[in-house]
Amino acid sequence: MKTLRESLADADARRVAIGHFNISELAALNGIFAAGQNITALRHDSTPILIGVSEGERDFIGVRRAAALIRSMREEYDYPIFLNADHTHSLERVKAAAGAGFDEILFDGSGLPIEENIAQTKEAVRIAHAIDPEIVVEGEIGYIGTSSEVMEKRPDNIALSTPEEAVRFVQATGIDVLAPAVGNMHGLLKTMVTGAEHKRLDIERIKAIRAACGKYMTLHGGSGTADEDFVAAAKSGMTIIHVSSELRLAWRRGVEAGLKNNPEEIAPYKILPAAVFEIQKIVTDRIKLFNGIEEE
Ligand SMILES: [Zn+2]
Repeated sequence: MKTLRESLADADARRVAIGHFNISELAALNGIFAAGQNITALRHDSTPILIGVSEGERDFIGVRRAAALIRSMREEYDYPIFLNADHTHSLERVKAAAGAGFDEILFDGSGLPIEENIAQTKEAVRIAHAIDPEIVVEGEIGYIGTSSEVMEKRPDNIALSTPEEAVRFVQATGIDVLAPAVGNMHGLLKTMVTGAEHKRLDIERIKAIRAACGKYMTLHGGSGTADEDFVAAAKSGMTIIHVSSELRLAWRRGVEAGLKNNPEEIAPYKILPAAVFEIQKIVTDRIKLFNGIEEE
């Protein structure tokens, strides 16, 4: 089985993207894993999956428990499923995630002045690699909002990244993966929940940043992006694509359906399959787009 580093190299060579999906609990994890297994059965080739836990999500699950859970699935099923410490804001948390055995750490200093972002991200790389050089460390530049929720309007101060800024950041920090701002946005607008509007990406900017910095890149805030832009982003240099808000919506929809359809039921494992199913549907669809798999 390939490691995360090998999976990234493979995805990059094939110009496809690894899907990164956030979880807070087991129903979401089961839905994501089932989607990965479905696609794998379809292609006869294991499709790598990245599971993300933000600081809030990993506090709810437990940092070491999250790591143990994903490792156990990787071993039990011999499946390339990996764990990312999504949007880690402090060096203490970098150390905790690295020590627990996370495969990837995103140190997010994008809210800091650029010089401070560079200094702290460089330190995050040093800390993580001192614990395990195999850990993939990601850094972030630009501003795309912070919340994976449904919003009335776009966040203020969205700041797109430039190739010059990307080169300087990559060289000064020694990161393995860069998260730039290229028209993507965290969270969903109400108009995107209904499908009336989609996020559109600056594909030329993705190509230019990728060509200049020569690193793997991550597209954050993928929820609600136009299908064709997902496909173009993967072909243009995005090696990882994050989806979170869509899964939170699906989770809620599934839990509500599970409760409504089983009004007397109190066994969670009989209520939650509806949430597993809703999440599995979305993840299957996203993995197909990220990997250029045509619909049958
Ligand atoms: Zn993100």
